[in-house]
Amino acid sequence: MVDESIDVDSLMEAGRIARRVREKAINIVREGVSILDICNILEESIRDLGGKPAFPCNICINEIAAHYTASIEEQTIIPSRSIVKIDIGVSVNGYIADTAITISFDSSHELMVEAVYKALMEALKIVRPGVPVSVIGATIQKTIRDMGFKPIRNLTGHEIARYNLHAGLSIPNVQTIQTDKLKTGHIYAIEPFATTIDGAGEVVPLRTATIYRLSIEKIDRSKLKKEELELVDMISRNFDNLPYTTRWIQEFDKVKNLHEKMVRKGRIHSYPVLVEKNRKPVSQAEHTILVTEDGCKIVT
Ligand code: MN
Ligand code: MN
Repeated sequence: MVDESIDVDSLMEAGRIARRVREKAINIVREGVSILDICNILEESIRDLGGKPAFPCNICINEIAAHYTASIEEQTIIPSRSIVKIDIGVSVNGYIADTAITISFDSSHELMVEAVYKALMEALKIVRPGVPVSVIGATIQKTIRDMGFKPIRNLTGHEIARYNLHAGLSIPNVQTIQTDKLKTGHIYAIEPFATTIDGAGEVVPLRTATIYRLSIEKIDRSKLKKEELELVDMISRNFDNLPYTTRWIQEFDKVKNLHEKMVRKGRIHSYPVLVEKNRKPVSQAEHTILVTEDGCKIVT
């Protein structure tokens, strides 16, 4: 029985939009194209199709594994012979579909792209209520290893709740000692990442961040100044307390210093850009699923 508190129609609509935007990404991501244009086009497509971005379009090139989106003055173009991860989140009434693909412009990366896709498919085959997340992790690990690559052990999939992208459980990409099990009626994102065999199989944070989220739990409204309250309310109202980019804030220059100060004070969480420790290329595949009594429904 699916948890009746879940609006499955909204969730599946978010998934339908995410699929279409993912297809669009395959068509527009090309060597030499501006990554700012790509982010803007994909986020606009989400809105045109009736959804809301659940987080900024992530576009991670080569050794960058996660948490990179174009800034407003971004000059980067897709480099030749690169490997590009596009990670898309769509919210419909707070129900989130999270999906990612890897597009490669060098045939030497193709097997590593296939490895994460195959790992995701193998994981989906064994998904049903009661399956330990460590078994999912072991399946992903074995599939990637058998194809001659290394899983990234400190990046994981995650449970998804309404208006909450990372809720509850983590779904590992390697075997772990976690005792958690998948539950009927719960929503999860499964997202294997791989790198080459000479990679560390681990990501490390860079000092830069391009994605933020309000730390609601660390905000005491009574202690905020008027201008801080206005910024918090604007972010909360526009981005539903989900991750956002300053690129989405109109006339950001006017609140730039205040925003920086709130990041320093921990009232706004910043997601550091995550890069493979040995600076080796990374591939990713991701689907959002709804666990059902006899298996799962692939949302994306
Ligand atoms: Mn994702
Ligand atoms: Mn995810």
